[in-house]
Amino acid sequence: MGKKLATRAEDYSKWYNELVVKADLAENSAVRGCMVIKPYGYAIWEKMQAQLDRMFKETGHQNAYFPLFVPKNLFEAEEKNAEGFAKECAVVTHYRLKNNPDDPGKLVVDPEAKLEEELVVRPTSEAIIWNTYKNWVQSYRDLPILINQWANVVRWEMRTRLFLRTAEFLWQEGHTAHATKQEALDEAMQMNDIYATFAEEFMAIPVVKGSKTENERFAGAEETYCIEALMQDGKALQAGTSHFLGQNFAKAFDVKFASKEGNLEHVWATSWGVSTRLMGALIMTHSDDNGLVLPPKLAPIQVVIVPIYKGDEQLEQISEVASKMAADLRAKGISVKYDDRDTQKPGWKFAQYELQGVPVRLAIGPKDLEKGTVELARRDTLTKEFVKQEEVVEKVNALMVEIQESLFNKARDYRDSHITKVDSFDEFKKVLKEKGGFISAHWDGTSETENKIKDLTKATIRCVPFNQEKEEGSCVLTGKPSSQRVLFAKAY
Ligand code: AMP
Repeated sequence: MGKKLATRAEDYSKWYNELVVKADLAENSAVRGCMVIKPYGYAIWEKMQAQLDRMFKETGHQNAYFPLFVPKNLFEAEEKNAEGFAKECAVVTHYRLKNNPDDPGKLVVDPEAKLEEELVVRPTSEAIIWNTYKNWVQSYRDLPILINQWANVVRWEMRTRLFLRTAEFLWQEGHTAHATKQEALDEAMQMNDIYATFAEEFMAIPVVKGSKTENERFAGAEETYCIEALMQDGKALQAGTSHFLGQNFAKAFDVKFASKEGNLEHVWATSWGVSTRLMGALIMTHSDDNGLVLPPKLAPIQVVIVPIYKGDEQLEQISEVASKMAADLRAKGISVKYDDRDTQKPGWKFAQYELQGVPVRLAIGPKDLEKGTVELARRDTLTKEFVKQEEVVEKVNALMVEIQESLFNKARDYRDSHITKVDSFDEFKKVLKEKGGFISAHWDGTSETENKIKDLTKATIRCVPFNQEKEEGSCVLTGKPSSQRVLFAKAY
C-alpha cells in the first residue's frame, strides 16, 4: 500500500480515515462500527490514560470495576436516562447456542436458554453503579464516594468513524456521590477543569469550557459541562463531558443517607467521561498532509535514530555513537527508538516515522561520524538542521518543550481566528458556509429556536461558554432578547 495520503484540502474525511489506517493507529473490524486499535494507537491511548488516571487520583478518586451488563429493570429505573439511551442499546436475550440439526457445523440460539431478565450492554453505567451505591451509603460518614472506572461501553451508533464515533468505545467514567448539592456541583466543575487542563497541557488542544443547553445535555443530568475543541476543517468536537446529576439517580435507586443532623436525605451525584474519541481529536488537531503529528508528551516514541550506512563496518561505527546517544536521551526521560533494521532503507524509515508523527528524527551517516554531527528533523515544522553530537541531548530536551508549546499555540491561533461574532442570520449562514468554526451569536434560550437553527444549518449549540462577559442582545434567528452569546458550530 502506498504511503501518500489524500490531502486535507482535497477530502478532509478521506485524509482522516487514511491517516488512521496508514499510521497504524486503528482499523475497521469484522464487527460493524467496532474498531481494532492497533499497538501504536493503543500506546498513545495508554499515555493518555496514564496521565488522566494520575490526575483523577491526585484529586482523591479511586478506580473500581462494575459489570458490563445491566439488568433491564435497573436500566429503566432512571427514566430520562433510560429513554435517552434506549435507541442505541445492545441487549442480551439468550445465554446459549446449540448445534443446528438442520445445518451441521452451524450454531443457533438455543430457544430454551432465554434469559428471564434481559441484559442491557452498558451504554453508560449510572444504573448499575447507583444500584450498588445503595448498599454502600447509610450515613454522611460514607460520603463522598469518588470512584472512576476504565471500561468499554456500547452505543449502537448508525454512522461510525474510527475513534470519533464507534459502536463500542473505551472510556473512563467517574461516578461520585455527595452529601450536598454544592459539593456535587463543585466536583462536576473540577472534573471538567481537569479535562480542559489535560487537553491543553498534554494533548496541546485548546478547548472552550462551558455548559450544554437542555437539548444537548446528558440524559438524566441537571447540568452538563463540557470541553469543546475545533478541528482543522472548522468542525467542532465534544472532547469531554462532566455531569451534575442532581438527586435523580439517588431517587431512582433510593440512595439515602442520614445527615449530621439526623435527617434522611437523598445523595447528590456526578458523572464524567472522556473516551477514545480523544484520539480522533488529537489526530485531527495537529496532523498534516504528510501524516500524524504528535505532541511530545503523548508520543510513544519521542525520538527515532536512523543510521545511514553501507556495510557492516559502518553500521557498527554508527551504532556505537547512536547507542550512546540513545542512552543519554533515555537518562533524561526521553523515549528513543534506534531503528537499525536492515530490512528497510533509510528513506522508507523516514517516511514511516513522518507518517507516524514521531516528533524528532535523528539521522547519522558516515559524514556525521567524520564531522561529529547528526541531522535533526522536526516533525511539526518539517525543518532539518545539523547538530553537534555532544549538543544533541540538550537540544532534544529543549525541543520536547518547544514542540509541545508550538503545537498548542498553532492550534490556539487557528481556533481563535475561527470564532466569529455574528449578529444576523444571513451572516450566520454565510460564515458557517464559507469559514466554518465557532459562531458566537445571541440565542433566545429556547429549544425550539435551537432546533430550528439546526434544521436550517446543521449547526448546533456547542456550549454556553463559562468565561465570557454577559452581553444583552437579540436572538440571531427570532430577534427575541438574549443575555449572552453562545457558541454554534457544525460538530462531529
Ligand atoms: P456522554 O456519556 O454521552 O457524556 O459521553 C462521554 C464521552 O464519550 C464524551 O466525551 C463523548 O464525546 C464521548 N462519546 C460519546 N459517544 C461516543 C462514541 N460513539 N464514540 C466515542 N466516544 C463517544
